[in-house]
Amino acid sequence: MAYKPRDERGEIAILRILNARMVLSDDEKWNYLKMKKGFEGEVMFDSLTEKLQCECYVLNDLLIELDNSKFQIDTLVIQDTIHLFDVKNYEGDYSYENGDFFSKSGKLTSNPLSQLKRCDSLLRQLLQKYGYKLTVEPSLVFINPEFTLYHATKQEPIIHPTQVNALMKKLNSWTGKVNGKHKKLADLLVSLHQIESPYPRVPHYSFEGVRKKMNCSLCQSFSVTVNGRKIVCDNCGCVEGVDAAVLRIVKELKLLFPERKVTTNLVFEWCGGVISVHIIRRVLHQNYKTLGSGRWLYYE
Ligand SMILES: [Zn+2]
Repeated sequence: MAYKPRDERGEIAILRILNARMVLSDDEKWNYLKMKKGFEGEVMFDSLTEKLQCECYVLNDLLIELDNSKFQIDTLVIQDTIHLFDVKNYEGDYSYENGDFFSKSGKLTSNPLSQLKRCDSLLRQLLQKYGYKLTVEPSLVFINPEFTLYHATKQEPIIHPTQVNALMKKLNSWTGKVNGKHKKLADLLVSLHQIESPYPRVPHYSFEGVRKKMNCSLCQSFSVTVNGRKIVCDNCGCVEGVDAAVLRIVKELKLLFPERKVTTNLVFEWCGGVISVHIIRRVLHQNYKTLGSGRWLYYE
């Protein structure tokens, strides 16, 4: 288990809900799919670091600000060396020429090696600031098995998909022990982690402007049938208990509209009236704290 696990970023969760419930522009949709794919790559890498048997602290997804510069760390493995990983889920054929990356549609506007170098440099500054004398070893990990990079030299700190297993073996081969110094550093980094807000890539949205209807938890389709205590998706066949479905859409509401008070009527409207007020009230009552009274009853 990672010392700091990775949660689905609020920004991606909001975009996933909005993508189902309103029309995103081509750019917004492209951005969302790109972020989603990147996140899936990071989760793929997590599934490997979770299996590490060696002593280490694994910290996933840190957003840190140092002297007005923000930097994002995908994964950090703390041993006597600090392994800094930036994980990319690129797919297909790319090439690396004179310091630039090219896909078949041309030069990449954001250079992943430059991003890694910046992150590495800020992390070293941070360690120096807090008096840590540990070596940092940065690596750019291409995790997708269907990725090929042409013309990269051995000098670049790149881990190709075929080298990922060897990387895990290398980390596992460390026979040292982590001690109080390593833990103190892990705690410091976790304490410096910031929650990103506001989300720059989320488009403007309003309660009035998004589709209010119950949808499938798996494929997000709105073709669902309420069958007794179950919600059945007519598209993918997924079955979800009605209580779980209510809790899921309440979570959506709270994420999208944190300023709104959760009431039975609000949830009823959000699910398009397919779940009875009676059931919604019971589920809210059982799972949330009741505040206010009478007409002004709400749940937190
Ligand atoms: Zn479905």
